[in-house]
Amino acid sequence: MEHQYDCIVIGAGVVGNAVARQLSACSVTIAVLEKEQDLCFGTSGRNSGVLHAGFNNKTGSKMARFCVEGNLEFDRIAEELDVPFKRTGKLIVGFSDDDKNSLRAMKAQGDANGVPGLEIVGKERIRELAPFIAGEFAMYSPMTGILNPFIYTVALAENAHKNGAAYFFACPVTDIFYQDGRYRITAGGRNFASRWIINCAGLESDKISALLGIKGHKLYPCRGEYFILDKKAGQYLGIPAYPVPNPREGGLGIHLTPTIDGNILIGPSSKYIEENDNYSVTQDIMDLLIKDGGRIFPYLKREYFIRNFAGIRPKLVGPQEGGFADFVIERRSEAPYAINLVGIESPGLTSALPIAREVVRLIREVEPLKPNPGFDPVRKGPPAFAGLTNGQRRALIQQNPDYGEIICRCENITKAEVLEAINRPLGAATVTGVKYRCRPMMGRCQGGYCQTRITELLRQEKKLAVKEVLYQRKGSNMFTGVALK
Ligand SMILES: Cc1cc2nc3c(=O)[nH]c(=O)nc-3n(C[C@H](O)[C@H](O)[C@H](O)COP(=O)(O)OP(=O)(O)OC[C@H]3O[C@@H](n4cnc5c(N)ncnc54)[C@H](O)[C@@H]3O)c2cc1C
Repeated sequence: MEHQYDCIVIGAGVVGNAVARQLSACSVTIAVLEKEQDLCFGTSGRNSGVLHAGFNNKTGSKMARFCVEGNLEFDRIAEELDVPFKRTGKLIVGFSDDDKNSLRAMKAQGDANGVPGLEIVGKERIRELAPFIAGEFAMYSPMTGILNPFIYTVALAENAHKNGAAYFFACPVTDIFYQDGRYRITAGGRNFASRWIINCAGLESDKISALLGIKGHKLYPCRGEYFILDKKAGQYLGIPAYPVPNPREGGLGIHLTPTIDGNILIGPSSKYIEENDNYSVTQDIMDLLIKDGGRIFPYLKREYFIRNFAGIRPKLVGPQEGGFADFVIERRSEAPYAINLVGIESPGLTSALPIAREVVRLIREVEPLKPNPGFDPVRKGPPAFAGLTNGQRRALIQQNPDYGEIICRCENITKAEVLEAINRPLGAATVTGVKYRCRPMMGRCQGGYCQTRITELLRQEKKLAVKEVLYQRKGSNMFTGVALK
């Protein structure tokens, strides 16, 4: 059987889901094909969660334009999609004359990009904004914010799905050819046909380009490693604090970012690697994070560290080349009914919706797309028990006693929230999927108490055999071997 659509989006990261949502505002049939078991298992679930303001990006680039646009509209988007978000502002702190010159140049670039409110501030203002952060002077960016990248990615997908987009998981695209006015796609043992393909495959988007017959794109994976600090440390930092970036090191420099839930991230480092799925964290980088993080946050203590993780940048510039490469968002003569997105690295989270609008604009250059009269941009997430007043909690428990059973003690996540994460449309299929949707296992004990209970709830609700429950990717089975009698 062949599944037929007008538009097929490859990849269910933040960009693929933003594209699907934007297309679902038009009268077209849409499917999203994702190689993993769930949403957000690529770079979209492995980043700093910062809504960038747009001063780091080259004036005139798509990165600069889309970042500024994505930043300015985000209060409305967070409200529409019920995404936890805070406009915290951000400090880039400096110590030397060189740093000061770099900050002035960065401010000039930001002003030219249309970033509002940038100012160079002295020590006193740093103390007011972030009393525990070191620095002689800084650039203050009031528009920068922090958001929950997992919930944003899930919310975009849920809204696209509500407006008609179909989702297929465990569906890696392995073959594409064009025949009789349609693309024929093989993915996960199924066959699809579509008039349009939108390549949002992140770290694999160069491979999908090649399958589309588009030559000339090569991605270089560049890993960024992080430490996550306990909420105990969160009280010391309410605003992201960055060093002045060193162009030789790449990236924005090792920074401290409060998460929307009250932890702190230290990182990311920047190191080119061979494989695009090697998420290892390494001792030498952990030592570097402690050293560099401690420079701008002298109160850093080892007892705060609760976990580490890594994300991988899909870079279009190799380790020997250096320099700048813009987002590629193109329609090429080799594949006239494909919109090809390559090199969507930072600030891709911030830019996802402007990128999606650009995709629809490129399709509209070829054919008119009528609006979907039933499109509803609003998505409502489930209540987060931990953030409610006692009165609100009591009311919820009366409606549904599962709100009275705590599954994750560190984060106060209830059984009702875990069940909702599993059972809502496009619900979690794996243990990590539950974690991304409602935060159990993200606290101090990192799942020591709740992981087995979540595994059992997932097994029951999905009617799985014990050995079928996955932690995240294919092969990450929670249980293997022979059961003891
Ligand atoms: C360390 C780090 C920190 C960052 N911090 C920020 C930040 O603070 N703010 C910001 O704005 N941006 C940040 N970014 C950038 C941002 O995270 C990315 O630009 C964004 O997540 C890219 O989204 P995506 O959907 O293109 O890619 P992904 O999230 O990687 O999604 C691509 C999807 O395609 C799927 N896929 C791949 N191949 C196939 C196939 N053959 N068939 C089917 N599916 C396939 C993958 O499984 C994946 O789910 C950061 C990036 C990194 C690495």
